[in-house]
Amino acid sequence: MKVLYYSTRNFEKEYLIKANKNKHSISFIKESLSLETVDKAKGYDIISLTPSDDASKLTIEKLNEYGIKYIVLRCAGYDNVNIKSATIAGIKVANVPAYSPYAIAEFATSLLLTLNRKLIISNQRINQYNFNIDNLIGFDLNNKTVGIIGTGKIGAIMTKIMNGYGCNILAYDIDVNQNLIDTYGVKYVSIKELCEESDVISIHVPLNQHTRHLIDDKLIKYMKKNVIIVNTARGAIINTKDVIKALDNNQIAALGMDVYENEDGIFFKDLSADIPKDEMLKKLISMPNVLLCSHHAFLTEEALTNIAETTFYNIDCWSKNKETENQLTA
Ligand code: NAD
Repeated sequence: MKVLYYSTRNFEKEYLIKANKNKHSISFIKESLSLETVDKAKGYDIISLTPSDDASKLTIEKLNEYGIKYIVLRCAGYDNVNIKSATIAGIKVANVPAYSPYAIAEFATSLLLTLNRKLIISNQRINQYNFNIDNLIGFDLNNKTVGIIGTGKIGAIMTKIMNGYGCNILAYDIDVNQNLIDTYGVKYVSIKELCEESDVISIHVPLNQHTRHLIDDKLIKYMKKNVIIVNTARGAIINTKDVIKALDNNQIAALGMDVYENEDGIFFKDLSADIPKDEMLKKLISMPNVLLCSHHAFLTEEALTNIAETTFYNIDCWSKNKETENQLTA
């Protein structure tokens, strides 16, 4: 099979080359998939995408025209791929449903601890030989209530970690995970109750029509004043404008984010010489109680290895005319 990897980052190449075991002809390009770059797919059987690629309806139609038969995602989330259009076009799409939920949950925990204990501010002071510890007070996580929105693979690990810190866990999900109730005493509640009771809220739902802007000013008004929100799922699950307003009004204490609503075209690039004209982004970066990272919660050795191996597992299945259980299309 001839495979074109869109949006290739230097760090992932060695993992992909190793996992390929010289079986397929693979090419890497840095550009993301869009209507402007779709013609680069000509001559390939398969393209591989990340969350920064845009496989919407028109792009899928072009891919179909160019004879692309398969799309293999190097990620779990697939909100950027029009699955319905791919199904209609007969293009099979598969993802990597679980590469390391630990990588993401541990990263969410890092964001929480860093914000709560004000480590960035402390470190900035130390770098200037300022050893003053005023205004660095956090709170014990022990006995606090953590609200987990989405108790799938990542949310379940986050639950386990927060249980280890001695927290009480509230959860909101359309599916109840009985194992989490039995093992960690998790209480499933409405989203309103979760917001009212939680000292920390961690988001682990996929982005879809029901979760887009789930966290908006209507929900924020139910939240405790000192709540810390952590979002490692997808940027648009939060209404960033509403959350910035709440941070400004001290309705939210702090926000940790690995994902940003308008991250496409910005994240993964060095824009230091050409700063984006994105006022919301500038505002977030300027706020001492916001910790923004550029979508790298998945960056662990284990996750990169699993992503590469599952990608080639999916490709190998298709090349043998077999189905893969990771297929998202009918
Ligand atoms: P998962 O499918 O295992 O779990 C998602 C959970 O959300 C499920 O339990 C599901 O029932 C629940 N859910 C779905 N729609 C819902 C709704 N409308 N209301 C309430 N609950 C709903 O997924 P996962 O592996 O835990 O990953 C969660 C998300 O994390 C992914 O969709 C992806 O967007 C994001 N993610 C981010 C990174 C990163 O690097 N930052 C990496 C991997 C995944």
